[in-house]
Amino acid sequence: MNNELQLTKLRRYFNTSGKRYSIERENMLEVIAGMKGEFTLVELFKAARAKGYVHAVSTLYRNLFVFIDAGFITELRLSGGRTKYVANTGQNGFLLCVGCGKLSRIRLPKGFKAIQDELYKKHEFIPLAYNYQLKGYCSKCRKKIAG
Ligand SMILES: [Zn+2]
Repeated sequence: MNNELQLTKLRRYFNTSGKRYSIERENMLEVIAGMKGEFTLVELFKAARAKGYVHAVSTLYRNLFVFIDAGFITELRLSGGRTKYVANTGQNGFLLCVGCGKLSRIRLPKGFKAIQDELYKKHEFIPLAYNYQLKGYCSKCRKKIAG
C-alpha cells in the first residue's frame, strides 16, 4: 500500500466527512497497511499495541469504524457472528461458505475492474475501495446438499 497516497485519501476523508483528524488515526492507518490478509480485532489491537499506538481495545474499536466508513477496511461477516477485517488494498474477492463457514480469497476476473470503473464514471464517483463477498456452498458442502 502506498503510504503517501493512503494518507492523502485519509485526510481527504476527514476534510469531507467533518470527522476529527488525529495523529492516532494517522498512526492507525500505518498499522492497517501492515496487516497481512484478513485479521481479527484482537490481531489488529496486538499490532497497534506493539507499536505503542493504542492501549485500549475500546479506542481501537471506535477508530476501526472510522476506517470502515472511510473505505480503508472492509468488514467480513463470517458464520456464527464472527467478524474479520481486511484492508482495502485493491480488488479483493471472497467466497464465504454458509455451510462450513470457510472463507476463501479469490482473484477477480479482469472484466470486474472495467465494470467497476464504468460505474464509478457513470455516477461521477472517485474510486476508493471495493470488496466482494460471495456467499454460497463450497465444494465439500455441495456434496452434502446433493446427497
Ligand atoms: Zn463449506
